[in-house]
Amino acid sequence: MNILIVEDDARIVSFLVKGLKAEGYATMIVRDGAEAIEMPASLLEDLDLVLLDLGLPGTDGREVLRVLRARRPALPVIILTARDDVREKVWGLDSGAADYVTKPFHFEELLARIRAALRAQDQRASSELVVGDLRLDLTTKTAWRAGRRIDLAPREWALLEFMMRNPNQVLSRVQILSHVWDFDFDPGSNVVDVYVGYLRRKLNAEGLPSLIQAVRGAGYRLLSPEPVP
Ligand code: CA
Repeated sequence: MNILIVEDDARIVSFLVKGLKAEGYATMIVRDGAEAIEMPASLLEDLDLVLLDLGLPGTDGREVLRVLRARRPALPVIILTARDDVREKVWGLDSGAADYVTKPFHFEELLARIRAALRAQDQRASSELVVGDLRLDLTTKTAWRAGRRIDLAPREWALLEFMMRNPNQVLSRVQILSHVWDFDFDPGSNVVDVYVGYLRRKLNAEGLPSLIQAVRGAGYRLLSPEPVP
């Protein structure tokens, strides 16, 4: 389990790192908001939870929460705040924070809240499909690639979901038609090729490598990259 600590107070950071390490968590530390917001997608993808101080120099913790929620909506964020203010807490929870802890806190309580947030996340994970840097949130019907949101039309969504449920398998046009279009279309139709084209264009924006491979005479395959060592 990988926990990102976004906190500028060195004393609190060292206390958290020591305590979390003793509990078997790996930690990553960021001391200002801008660094948290600009975190590379590859690092962000590796995180399981964030402890976020609201009072940060430069970029405020609120802005960090907003950006983290946009880049990885399912990542649980626990707010650490000295502001024992009901409005702050309501704002944090309404903004998608998993929980909050008011400083000074007891470490045992923080650990219990971390465990609770991770358990809740486990339950939500079943409503998420992930293949390589692609992520579908099946509850909110949102799609992401490399941390960037992709807007999909309903058929594009259905096509991508079907392919992500069957990664690395060659799917014939007839299979795709029957799952995505419920046989509404004549099997001779080129609608599959047209929609694969739409989907590719959206997935490959920003110059990312192509994930959907055409297999001549057979159909299409969604490539699942090997996990990066
Ligand atoms: Ca602070």
